[in-house]
Amino acid sequence: MRMPVVFFGHGSPMIALEDNAVTQRWRRIAQTIERDYRRPRAILCVSAHWLTRGLAVTAMQTPRTIHDFGAFPQALFDVRYPAPGEPALAAEIASLLAPAPVVQDQTEWGLDHGTWSVLCKAWPDADIPVVQLSLDATLSPQDHLATARRLTSLREDGVLIIGTGNIVHNLRLMNWSNPDCPPAPWAQAFEDAMCDAIDAHDAEPVADFASLGEAARLSVPTPDHFWPVLYALGVTDRTDRVDIDPRFIQHASLSMTSIVWWPQPDA
Ligand code: ZN
Repeated sequence: MRMPVVFFGHGSPMIALEDNAVTQRWRRIAQTIERDYRRPRAILCVSAHWLTRGLAVTAMQTPRTIHDFGAFPQALFDVRYPAPGEPALAAEIASLLAPAPVVQDQTEWGLDHGTWSVLCKAWPDADIPVVQLSLDATLSPQDHLATARRLTSLREDGVLIIGTGNIVHNLRLMNWSNPDCPPAPWAQAFEDAMCDAIDAHDAEPVADFASLGEAARLSVPTPDHFWPVLYALGVTDRTDRVDIDPRFIQHASLSMTSIVWWPQPDA
């Protein structure tokens, strides 16, 4: 059975310590996948927080929980997500992406907070194997999309493919004191344009996001949090039903929007 695909808008790592409407929705997504499709045999996560030159996958049996941030409470550093790895899936990903070389990482990475801050809510038991694929920072958005497309067959094999980042991610222009303030107009315009294209299964305008000019420059000041959208979008097609929920921007310039692509039974 073909697996759904998820893009999680992950926001601050502090969400790992919270229980709110967003984390409850993440949990419901996981429960719906298990109820209506199947329990994933493994999860492939593409996180905004693992940037490399060239491609790498986590290929260790027991990936460590990486606390890749600075000034946060000790309680956040105490969070562990002890999901196993799956070296065989890491090798399979490399074969799908060949001839591009994919480093089988045994020591450098693990599970970063882009991955564990969402998975600790969606699958709190941490008993499904997780593999991370890095973002090759030398690739164009079109190359990221093409890389993703080569991974599509994993969906037929019980692998849940997840992108974790943010459609709009401008920390410098955030209103830190008020999460509920109105979105910046450029942030809302960019988010709406991207959601419209995603809803229409139109990948090219998403990869070509920079053509939106000033709204794109402000919403995506660095591309790391946006690229994971392309990995989710790239493994989907018109037969998937697009479900954008939640859909909102907090602190004026941080999108918490998540997207699920649900395969349809008659497709
Ligand atoms: Zn992040």
